[in-house]
Amino acid sequence: MKPKKIAIIGAGTAGLATGIRLQSQGYDVTIFEKNEKVGGRMYHLEDQGFHFDVGPTIVMLPEVYKELFSYSGANPDDYIQMQLLDPLYQLHYHDGTSLTLSSNLTTLMKTLESAFPEDAQGYLAYLADIYKRYSIANAEFIDHGFLKLKDILNVKNIKDTFRLRTFNSAYRSISKFVKSEKLRQTLAFQTLYIGVSPFEGPSIYTIISMIELLYGIWYIKGGMYSMAKAMERRFLETGGTLLTSTPVSSVLIENKQAYGVSTNKQDYLFDIVVCNADFPSAVSNLIPLEHRGRYTPKKFKNMQYSSSAFIIYLGLDKKYPTTVHQIRYAKDFKKNIQDLFAPRLPDDPSFYLYSPTQIDASLAPEGKEVLYMLVPVPNREDPSFHWDETMTQAFYDKMMDRLTQIKTFQDIKDHIQVSHIYTPKTWEETFHLMHGATFGLKPILLQSNFFRPQANALPVKNLYFTGTSVHPGAGIPIVLKSAKIVSDIILKEYPL
Ligand SMILES: Cc1cc2nc3c(=O)[nH]c(=O)nc-3n(C[C@H](O)[C@H](O)[C@H](O)COP(=O)(O)OP(=O)(O)OC[C@H]3O[C@@H](n4cnc5c(N)ncnc54)[C@H](O)[C@@H]3O)c2cc1C
Repeated sequence: MKPKKIAIIGAGTAGLATGIRLQSQGYDVTIFEKNEKVGGRMYHLEDQGFHFDVGPTIVMLPEVYKELFSYSGANPDDYIQMQLLDPLYQLHYHDGTSLTLSSNLTTLMKTLESAFPEDAQGYLAYLADIYKRYSIANAEFIDHGFLKLKDILNVKNIKDTFRLRTFNSAYRSISKFVKSEKLRQTLAFQTLYIGVSPFEGPSIYTIISMIELLYGIWYIKGGMYSMAKAMERRFLETGGTLLTSTPVSSVLIENKQAYGVSTNKQDYLFDIVVCNADFPSAVSNLIPLEHRGRYTPKKFKNMQYSSSAFIIYLGLDKKYPTTVHQIRYAKDFKKNIQDLFAPRLPDDPSFYLYSPTQIDASLAPEGKEVLYMLVPVPNREDPSFHWDETMTQAFYDKMMDRLTQIKTFQDIKDHIQVSHIYTPKTWEETFHLMHGATFGLKPILLQSNFFRPQANALPVKNLYFTGTSVHPGAGIPIVLKSAKIVSDIILKEYPL
């Protein structure tokens, strides 16, 4: 019997990972990608010898990255080389104080005892509490999908939901353990990595800071884009077909069964279609209205979307010794976060700096530096966030002025060799993200776990979804889990 033919729409992390998993098991997989390069949000820019990671920069849970290669029969070390970062971050507070977070617990305890003597014990209690909840979340919510009603409505699920105690906000849950406002910010900020406010998001998302502190932040040699290239290489080695610069214009459906995809040039016939393009935009643009089930235009209008990101990528003709990851907190942290979802453009934003050339000279010409400045900003649902040239230039100028207020970077404007900008509009147009929401559907309680779109979200046979806006959610390790969930369903339902 001929192997089943599978089309995957999108060569983002989840699309490539699904491709590798299924092709390595013997299916015949073709990936269609609209852009000229793979990676999706894990994209890459190159200019005059400077290499920029466009989206993700922080590697957590390295074993999840490696599992993909092992699963396909390869040695992960032949594809990605990882190193543990120490320090994890340098954090700078509005009052001029700073904190270096070490990945070494002995060093970190000394730092915490000296900076927050009253909170060191509370910090450990917080870690123990969230670690326990993480173990439940991992086993019961992240590792599998909720495909049938009986997967959702059962006593165990209800019990586990209560054991997760996820109803509080992240900030309130942290505040029970530590008193210092600075330490609270340090542990709460990370919910923005999935585009939800720590003052609103379910408290379970404080697992992000726990994962960083207990399992470390890692760096992949060559930057994050090395992972995208490694996945592309493995997919092709296993015999998969990759069609870049090939946007899909619709999924072909008849009698409630998907049977292929259409580009503007031709139709392609397949047995199964997996959609990695972000769920809200993919359903709205690629699926005929009558097949959208409960995901109607009205439903998407009522759903909530994550925040977005304004990023400046600088290639500098001078070295600026700093750390790989830095966070600079706004003077009024709470107002800054409220602005993001009000939505208002923050006046005094918190921001994140990434300088991989501190430890990886391969990303810039000799003696030069790469600096990435990410400012969380509202998504584009409100039409005033058009991000036309004037708005973009004004915000760029403002953030560059803010950068020069930092002593290390005071002469930075004189040393810019190349610069690029991504606005919410760029994210929307380049990767088809609804409202330019960089982390897809916002993971509020009612859009998480069984409430998030699942792999089999539409009432159409042979059609599946994977990626950020479906369960389990945003972040590279999490979308790699989504790829595993969808691949396991296909392996079970369409055995070879
Ligand atoms: C600024 C930023 C910073 C981040 N930082 C981190 C981080 O530090 N660590 C971390 O773990 N995660 C981080 N994330 C989250 C992480 O990058 C994403 O969750 C993940 O990359 C998304 O992968 P995906 O497969 O879901 O989707 P995508 O990467 O969006 O892939 C979908 C693909 O589908 C393609 N596509 C869309 N429409 C079509 C069509 N019609 N036809 C063909 N192809 C189509 C798109 O071009 C894209 O390549 C960050 C994200 C952003 C944006």
